[in-house]
Amino acid sequence: MRANKECTRQIRYLMGCFVEIEAQGENRFLSLNAVNAAFSEMKRIEKNLSRFLPDSVISNLNRMAAISPVEVQEEIFDLIERCVRYSELTGGAFDITASPFIELWNGAENHGRTPTHQEIDSASKAVGFQNLVLDRKNQSVYFSHPQMKLDLGAVGKGYAVDRAIELLRHHGIRKGLVNAGSTIYCFGGELRFGITDPMDPQSCITTVLLQDNAISTSATYERFYEIAGKKYGHIIHPKTGCPVEGEISSLSVISESAMESDILSTAFFVNGNHQDIKRLAARSEVKTLLIDSACHIALLPN
Ligand code: ADP
Ligand code: MG
Repeated sequence: MRANKECTRQIRYLMGCFVEIEAQGENRFLSLNAVNAAFSEMKRIEKNLSRFLPDSVISNLNRMAAISPVEVQEEIFDLIERCVRYSELTGGAFDITASPFIELWNGAENHGRTPTHQEIDSASKAVGFQNLVLDRKNQSVYFSHPQMKLDLGAVGKGYAVDRAIELLRHHGIRKGLVNAGSTIYCFGGELRFGITDPMDPQSCITTVLLQDNAISTSATYERFYEIAGKKYGHIIHPKTGCPVEGEISSLSVISESAMESDILSTAFFVNGNHQDIKRLAARSEVKTLLIDSACHIALLPN
């Protein structure tokens, strides 16, 4: 977006990354108001969803929901329910209950050794979206295993980006952009967006055109666990309890919903093979850009 007198652009640190919001409205005052409102909304969502903040709704669930059902606001209930639907759609590749595995690998990085089979086996008993008991009538969440915990790390940013975009539109913004690093949404104009080269993260390997849609990228080059000199990606296979190690170096999903692109980029990264991705992409009407370790680029469906 070209800077002009109606356009406002700001960068703030939230949700563990630098977030850039740009807006072009009737005048600069309205654009600035809209950008401030969009940032406040993302901050509110971070406060609700972060598992690192002890007062968040998710932290409260992680403390209490294995003892007895916990009532949550409609927004949170709906979000968790949508996550479970995506777990079903992706055959469990995306699973917000993978938290015990994630904690295990976080701990492993601190201890300098990979988790033992026994540790993974024991954590696996607490993982599985099927063990999440959602009661719509009472709007409550219950964990049927005592060690169960939620981690919305693969969906929170996407959800927050969708909400920020909704607020910009609500404030009369004609053209806007929310860039949260691994998830970006642009509307009201075209944006040619560069895809990072996974082998050389300082440069771009290709570009995609965004217009009224979002792109999310899951890759191993940015976030990883480093254990005894070896790098392990931060995306965990919910069936094995281990970081995904495959042919795919980077996977981007383009969708009309940032939440969907965020979820599916993680899920497709786990699923890993073209056949599965094609089948799922056809069902969810998204485009997927894959880059493998030999730097071959594939766009599905093509
Ligand atoms: P980013 O945060 O860079 O956008 P992702 O959207 O791929 O990355 O989300 C990765 C995060 O999601 C991990 O750091 C972890 O907290 C969580 N996670 C890891 N594996 C899974 C999985 N299979 N399903 C759901 N969440 C996951
Ligand atoms: Mg994701």
